Amino acid sequence: MHYEGNIIRPPSEANSLILQVTTGCSHNRCTFCGAYQGQQFQIKDDAIIESDLEFASVHCTGQSTVFLADGDALVIPQKRLLHLCGMIKEKLPWIRRIHLYANCRDILARTPAELSELKRVGLGRIYMGLESGHEKTLAAIDKGATAAEMIQAGQRVKKAKIFLSVTCLLGIAGIRYSLQHAAETAEVLNQIEPNQIAILTLMLLENTKIGQAAAAGTFQMPDKLGLFQELRIMVAALNVSRGQLQANHASNYFSLDGRLPRDKDDFLAIIDRAIAGTLNLKPEALRGL
Ligand code: SF4
Repeated sequence: MHYEGNIIRPPSEANSLILQVTTGCSHNRCTFCGAYQGQQFQIKDDAIIESDLEFASVHCTGQSTVFLADGDALVIPQKRLLHLCGMIKEKLPWIRRIHLYANCRDILARTPAELSELKRVGLGRIYMGLESGHEKTLAAIDKGATAAEMIQAGQRVKKAKIFLSVTCLLGIAGIRYSLQHAAETAEVLNQIEPNQIAILTLMLLENTKIGQAAAAGTFQMPDKLGLFQELRIMVAALNVSRGQLQANHASNYFSLDGRLPRDKDDFLAIIDRAIAGTLNLKPEALRGL
C-alpha cells in the first residue's frame, strides 16, 4: 500500500483497511491540530489508488470496512468519489462499509440527494469534528464553520441515514469559556443527535498555534479538575434520544464508554468520582493522541 505522511484514523477504525485517497487536510487551519502540518493537501492519483486496491484484493481479504484517509476525504468531488466507491466494490466485494472523516464545509457542499447517493454506494459512516458548540471558540480555533452550520451538516448526514460520529474537545475553550463551551457543545449535540459522540481532551502540541499560545501564556487550559467539571456539565446537559458516548481516547484521563440515555447516570457518577479525587486516572505519561 502507498502511504504518505501521517496516517491518522479514529480508534474505532483499528480493524479497517486504511486506503489513503488524499494526503493531508484541505482546511489545515485548526489551531489545535498538528496532524498534517507542512503536508501539502492533494487527492491521490487514481492509478496509485487502483494499485492499492489491487494489492488489497490479494492481501487484505479479512476486513469488512475501508477507512478513506486522510483528514477530509469528502472533499473529493462527488463523481470521483462515486467512482472510487464503485472501484472498492468491484475489487473488494467483501467490503461492506466505507468510512471517512469529513469537515462541515464538505458535508454542506453536498446536497441531501448526493449524500444519499453516497450512502447507496457504501458510505456507511462519517466522522465530523465539532470540537465545540461555542461560537467564539469555533472562531478562535479557526474551525471554518459556525455552530449553526455544524448543526445543519450533522442533521444532513443523519437524514441520509449515514452513521454520524461527532468529536468534541475538552479544554479547547480555555479557562475563560470552559463552562459556556460545555453547555453549548451539549446543546449542538442535542440538536444533531449523532449516532456516536466522541469526547477527547486537548493536547497542547508545540507545533500548533494553541500550543504556542499556551506556552506564551495567552491561552490557559483548564487544569484536570476544570476539565472534569467541564465534562460533567457537558454530559449532564446531553439530552439525545439515543446514541453512543465514548470518552475513551488516549488523550483522556479516564474512560467513559456506553450508551445514552441509558448510561448517563453511570457516566455522571464516574465523573463525580474523578472530581472528588477517588477515581484512578491515567498517568500523564500515558496520555497521547
Ligand atoms: S479539519 Fe481536522 S485534520 Fe484538518 S486541520 Fe482541522 S482538525 Fe486537523
